[in-house]
Amino acid sequence: MSDYSVLRDERVPLEDAYKKALETLGREASDIKCPDCKGRTIGSKENLGYYEHSGGQEVNGIKLWLYFRCPKCRYSWALWKVG
Ligand SMILES: [Zn+2]
Repeated sequence: MSDYSVLRDERVPLEDAYKKALETLGREASDIKCPDCKGRTIGSKENLGYYEHSGGQEVNGIKLWLYFRCPKCRYSWALWKVG
């Protein structure tokens, strides 16, 4: 068990939310980086968190706020803020 965790809406499979995040960003996982940790890549599936939010991206009929959490600085980066 890692020493940090991300929020995930149990109704939406991680695989589906992750696909949506990459589509929304239009980038490969290796191009998603923490702005505060000198380019550390944070785009892996285990760093993705998501919860229901009216301003989010729709996945399987549910609007989700998607973010990547950096394992090092532990900041949760909204999609448009990732480096
Ligand atoms: Zn970081």
